[in-house]
Amino acid sequence: MKIAIYPGSFDPATCGHIDIIERAASVFGKVYVAVIKNPEKKAEFGFEDRMKMLKGATKHLKNVVIDSFSGLLIDYAKKKKASAIIRGLRAVSDFEYEFQMALTNRKMCPEIETIFFMTGSQYAYLSSSMVRQIAKLGGPVSGMVPKNVEKELKKTSPTKA
Ligand code: ADP
Repeated sequence: MKIAIYPGSFDPATCGHIDIIERAASVFGKVYVAVIKNPEKKAEFGFEDRMKMLKGATKHLKNVVIDSFSGLLIDYAKKKKASAIIRGLRAVSDFEYEFQMALTNRKMCPEIETIFFMTGSQYAYLSSSMVRQIAKLGGPVSGMVPKNVEKELKKTSPTKA
């Protein structure tokens, strides 16, 4: 069975992330969606909340496991016996950073491939930071994030009343 890791901040998970998870789950036997625990990177949601939101949004995918990790991604991937790291690609702007990360990980660990899935075109503009901003200003985020994430965002939105 081929195992893949999909790492990210998921602060919070968007429909774009879920789209990538669904694509990866249709190709790999098991997909670990791994929330990065990085105390130096300030996140809007705690990692437990981010995991909870991902769990709620991927309930329909039986071969997807929500997890978290700290330290080097390749060490975590080896521990999980993964043969691939999954990343999502949106516009050209993602490319340079993703290219650098993929080649650095390959240098450290040649036996693990980074595989990119193209997002559905309706999510090509979507990012967690954009969603956070809209929600903070009380704007609508339906269709951008899964329903359970929308509920969580509403709790912090000024229009919650
Ligand atoms: P990171 O901080 O590691 O970039 P993110 O949670 O922002 O974590 O993203 C994780 C992965 O998901 C990255 O590969 C990113 O390019 C991808 N991604 C983010 N938003 C989308 C989207 N709307 N469609 C497809 N992939 C996306």
